[in-house]
Amino acid sequence: MGRITLEGVQKSFGPVHIIKGADLDIPDGAFVVFVGPSGCGKTTLLRLIAGLEDVSGGRILIDGNNVVDVPPAKRGLSMVFQSYALYPHMSVRGNIAFGLKMAGLPKAEINQKVEAAAATLNLTPYLDRKPRELSGGQRQRVAIGRAIVREPKAFLFDEPLSNLDAALRVQMRLEVTRLQKQLGTTAIYVTHDQVEAMTMADKIVVLNAGRIEQYGSPIELYQKPANLFVAGFIGSPKMNLITGDEATQRGAATIGVRPEHVAVVDDGQGWPGKVVIAEHLGSDTFLYVDAGTLGTLTVRCVGEKHLSAGDAVTLRPEPNRIYRFDSNGQSIFA
Ligand code: ATP
Repeated sequence: MGRITLEGVQKSFGPVHIIKGADLDIPDGAFVVFVGPSGCGKTTLLRLIAGLEDVSGGRILIDGNNVVDVPPAKRGLSMVFQSYALYPHMSVRGNIAFGLKMAGLPKAEINQKVEAAAATLNLTPYLDRKPRELSGGQRQRVAIGRAIVREPKAFLFDEPLSNLDAALRVQMRLEVTRLQKQLGTTAIYVTHDQVEAMTMADKIVVLNAGRIEQYGSPIELYQKPANLFVAGFIGSPKMNLITGDEATQRGAATIGVRPEHVAVVDDGQGWPGKVVIAEHLGSDTFLYVDAGTLGTLTVRCVGEKHLSAGDAVTLRPEPNRIYRFDSNGQSIFA
């Protein structure tokens, strides 16, 4: 089992309040991603769960037991770091086996677990190599192997893929997700990459300045952002946000519409504008349109759109895809 519950968790470093009361219930077996801008407290929250930092207030429960006074090694969690943290002088086998040796497991059992993990991670041919003889992706697999063999209640991943190049990140993203589903072990994964968050998570925690802005499935966050922060953070390119008369007419302080929900129409019924930049990606065309008092709006058209800078266009948002926000930035759901 691996249910993790946070109740009013607080953390200050000296006078600086970093985590401002986090409440969260992570069910057993879930893949939960912490996402948010740099410095919002993602890593700090993960380290509090791991026990690498002490809480300043609140409780952390693992399967119902408060662990705030339990040392990291006794929490039954395995952490995987961005830096891999492998022992350079040990072989892959030695690195994966290390924690089990420390725990005093019999040699035969250690070998059996190490070989099973290596097979799962396609590391069998590399068991006798040193970390320096491996690629970045292989090193990260060793770090994951070391976490798996301990059969933890949960995996804690701290930006594990950020040292890898773009193509390898995509591949490892799929591998990590598949492995977690196969093992059924709870996972908490920290990233600042919202695409990673959207594609990997069962549920996402959006953090901002030490507070949880929203906790929900990727689709819930996309379709029903709780507030302006989440609306602006989830989705790429970003949601268009419009204030002024256009918003007040709809009973809102701000309205939002995603670039994929704005169409270029030729009946003249909509918002007039002028193309500032057209980006032709082949699969999509991104238009940046100066729409006067509405500001510069981003439009995402599927396929090739034969428009270029200077062209006059009319933009029409899909009426049932317009988000409304009050003067506090909270979503107004009709
Ligand atoms: P990033 O995406 O850049 O890694 P993050 O969301 O993981 O950011 P944290 O590393 O949790 O952010 O840091 C949150 C805040 O806490 C930052 O302002 C950071 O400077 C501060 N902080 C973290 N650790 C300490 C520490 N040991 N002492 C003092 N301040 C700290």
